[in-house]
Amino acid sequence: MTHQTRYDLDREDLGEVLAGEPSYRVTQVWEGLYSHCTEPDDWSNVPKVLRSMVNTKLPAALNKAAESISDDGQTIKWLWNLHDAKQVETVLMHYPERSTVCVSSQAGCAMACSFCATGQAGFDRHLSVGEIVEQVAVASRTASKSGRRLSNIVFMGMGEPFANYERTWRSVERIHDDLGIGARHITISTVGIVPGIRRLTTEALPVNLAVSLHLANDQERDELVPINRRYPLDELADACHAYVEATHRRLSFEWALIDGVNDTDRHAQELADYARPLRAHVNLIPLNPTPGYMVRGTPPGRVRTFADTLERLGINATIRRTRGTEIDAACGQLRANQGSTPVQLG
Ligand code: SAH
Repeated sequence: MTHQTRYDLDREDLGEVLAGEPSYRVTQVWEGLYSHCTEPDDWSNVPKVLRSMVNTKLPAALNKAAESISDDGQTIKWLWNLHDAKQVETVLMHYPERSTVCVSSQAGCAMACSFCATGQAGFDRHLSVGEIVEQVAVASRTASKSGRRLSNIVFMGMGEPFANYERTWRSVERIHDDLGIGARHITISTVGIVPGIRRLTTEALPVNLAVSLHLANDQERDELVPINRRYPLDELADACHAYVEATHRRLSFEWALIDGVNDTDRHAQELADYARPLRAHVNLIPLNPTPGYMVRGTPPGRVRTFADTLERLGINATIRRTRGTEIDAACGQLRANQGSTPVQLG
């Protein structure tokens, strides 16, 4: 490993880094990191020398570059500097009944979906396990400070999780095993990387799968979601079918409603025909504005009509309210500092 940070290590690795310390000290450090999600300086039960050793040998992966708050404090977006000056974003959202963190799996994204700000900016690199897990730890610590418990994790931030499968999955295991978040409260969202879906089908932990569909005919999807040329809709449906058969879990499709692009009756019909055999649930998100894509989101009245049409065709659909649009924290707006004006710190 090139650059080791504190959430890269499993328990055994931590024991090795702290070799010579009594095992109860290793336990205290581990609990500080995973049971309390706090920083070494907060561990009053641990001697100062050991705390500073952890700070030096195991630096934090994420350095706060900016923090933006919206929705009356219910949505918080962080912009992080990584050790090599790459940047990623994380969004924490509080709802009455749950608190959800949206984590990034890559700095940038190579999928190039035209309507997504991350795709417009291009790919920087994969995130490490430590960089992914620390996003969850920070969110958990922040939630606790306002008397909330982090309950849900969605891999819907920057990047394509299945283009970084290995590290994403090891993060999921760490989040489940060590941060204690149930697999059913973890959702991985993919643009439709077929080998990733096939691999997920074989995993033991029952996490949720969401597929960002947006169009259900190859001709139009090829344009909007270029990876469709590599993994066309038939192959995607086969992989989704195998997943549902093997896991008996409910699949969801994400559909960003774009004015005149994918919101007509014909599009609803195509989506219904595609989703029905898979018994998939559809999440409708009116398109959020991004700098590089000039088409608007579908107006509210037609969002309703589209949802009604789906229901009539026997498809369960939910209209998602977007969070954090004014701080560019909503779906498809994460772009690591370009085009947004977050609150700058220090
Ligand atoms: N690469 C993964 C994870 C990103 S999740 C994936 O594609 O699923 C981010 C979600 O927001 C995806 O469903 C994506 O298609 C959607 N999205 C992208 N740009 C958007 C926009 N401008 N408005 C609304 N949703 C958008």
